Amino acid sequence: MKNEVMYSDFIIIGAGVLGLNLAAQLSKRYPEKSIALLERSDRFGTETSSRNSEVIHAGIYYDENSLKAKYCVKGNKLLYSFCNEYSIPFLKCGKYIVSSTEEQDEIILDLQNKALKNGVNLKFLNKDQLKSDEKMSHFRNALYSSETGIIDSHKLMQTLEQMAKYQNVALAYRNSFVKLIDVGTDGIVFEACDENGNSYYMRCQYFLNAGGLSSAKIANNFVSREVYKTKACRGRYYSLPAKYNNYFNKLIYPIPDPSGCVGIHITFELDGKFKLGPDVDWSFAESNDADDQNLYKFFDMRDDVKEKFYVEGKRLIPTLELKDLSPNYIGVRPKLFIDNKLEEDFHIKKIREGNNMSVHFLGIESPGLTSSMAIAEDLLEEFK
Ligand SMILES: Cc1cc2nc3c(=O)[nH]c(=O)nc-3n(C[C@H](O)[C@H](O)[C@H](O)COP(=O)(O)OP(=O)(O)OC[C@H]3O[C@@H](n4cnc5c(N)ncnc54)[C@H](O)[C@@H]3O)c2cc1C
Repeated sequence: MKNEVMYSDFIIIGAGVLGLNLAAQLSKRYPEKSIALLERSDRFGTETSSRNSEVIHAGIYYDENSLKAKYCVKGNKLLYSFCNEYSIPFLKCGKYIVSSTEEQDEIILDLQNKALKNGVNLKFLNKDQLKSDEKMSHFRNALYSSETGIIDSHKLMQTLEQMAKYQNVALAYRNSFVKLIDVGTDGIVFEACDENGNSYYMRCQYFLNAGGLSSAKIANNFVSREVYKTKACRGRYYSLPAKYNNYFNKLIYPIPDPSGCVGIHITFELDGKFKLGPDVDWSFAESNDADDQNLYKFFDMRDDVKEKFYVEGKRLIPTLELKDLSPNYIGVRPKLFIDNKLEEDFHIKKIREGNNMSVHFLGIESPGLTSSMAIAEDLLEEFK
């Protein structure tokens, strides 16, 4: 079996929201090309793409001219229009970023300026303006983002998968990239394996690595030494009981902490259920590979940080009680390190050799769900 080489013009690794976007958009633009997608799991979106806040971000927090700013702002618009066209449930509910201390009042103005540089207009509301809403009256000031919303990310991925299938993408679930064999005149040749561990070779002209938590390890096959590493940074969520459903009709975020983390915030799902999170937990980062085969240990949500969530949550909902919090789920941020240095931005590495090209999507953490459609659209231009 090993000697047989299967060929596709494009091979995509990973059926998360990014890999599915690549598959759907490439197959629409280039119907004459053969495209295959390899996914190690038995279905799409089992990792980061189904363990996030499902927020369509506006593009507020990211440095001017960063890839995060560029793709989030563009992706936001693309995503709303895709949702309208394909009837994907979403709610453009808006969001408040709130200040609770005098010190935070200054930070809130900096944030407003930062967002403006990315082309995002945030409305400033002072204490008097917040007073009219009893549930907001304990905050000092707030910024309002009208472009923020929530989305049914499962339905989004299902729609992209169906589009890809309909447009003849070969979807190979339970099949994994194993290692690169060669890049040469015959194309990019690599070893893959099926669910029973049987290995085989695949060959392509364009190799697109959307392997999420594994993308750094995959990319290292294409460079001369181990440049990239992904470390797992967990984000935990607690849910609130039904009495809080629709307590706010907008998402509520605190001022980001000095490390740049947006802070434990309140989001809700399309059915109105409230949740708090995610926090930032690096405790698994040093002792485990981000793409550890036993991913379940990252996702094992224990009830051991309730106090911390309660303290943060009470700043946003003063009537919150400790007993209101129930452990919910965990998502893992693929934090990228390049030569051991943390990379804050998305990193898209394109490697051309002769007629071949591999593209590696690295560090696709938040706002990756919002950005994925724009990232894929941009890449289409490479193959004109
Ligand atoms: C806690 C948290 C909250 C977030 N909240 C938001 C939010 O509200 N809004 C937003 O815009 N973004 C958010 N994000 C970011 C967003 O979820 C991610 O950026 C996005 O889901 C990444 O998608 P992906 O396709 O790159 O990766 P993934 O979803 O991880 O997909 C990668 C796929 O590759 C497969 N794979 C890996 N290795 C191999 C291999 N060797 N062979 C075959 N297949 C392989 C995996 O099985 C997986 O299915 C959040 C992230 C986290 C962690």
